[in-house]
Amino acid sequence: MPNFTDALPPKDQRPSLALVRVKPGKPIQAIVTATNFVGCETHYWHGRTAPCEQPNCEACDDGSPTRFHAYIASWNPATNRSFLLEITRAAADAFDGYRNTYGSLRGCRYSVHRASSNPNSRVIVELHPADEQRFAIPQPPNVIACLCTIWHCSPPEAIAPRLNGNGSTNARRREVLDAIKLANTKGA
Ligand SMILES: [Zn+2]
Repeated sequence: MPNFTDALPPKDQRPSLALVRVKPGKPIQAIVTATNFVGCETHYWHGRTAPCEQPNCEACDDGSPTRFHAYIASWNPATNRSFLLEITRAAADAFDGYRNTYGSLRGCRYSVHRASSNPNSRVIVELHPADEQRFAIPQPPNVIACLCTIWHCSPPEAIAPRLNGNGSTNARRREVLDAIKLANTKGA
């Protein structure tokens, strides 16, 4: 028998942000909210980007090549929208240099675009320190937890210390979500 209700179920609490890639003709301008980027070797496997999970990686075993991506917590002050920018190793160089110069990426105002209409053309990156007085930059998300939500994978032990507990799938899922919430309250 169906269980009808006039109350809404609780909102999905999993941390989630849109993943944005640089597309031709669509420049992106935003401000970095996190102090650092999160890098990860990935595979393009079975039609989607998936993290490389060495030392036990099915995609590696299948002969799929790895590719480094950097994920940058971003906020667009014009739309008040937060998102994760996904860039390749080459485009991440400029952010790495900025971090080395200023000690942190937070507050870095960036503009990225493709050099031509070719979707694989070089990504041009321009970076400037934002005027922090002008922008109330939001707190950063937990980028790793967001990526785990996007990739449908378990968060690493560091942010899900109780992941290996016994119990039903639902109980374990709750444990993971609690661990992510805990990690979020501790900051990214
Ligand atoms: Zn792999």
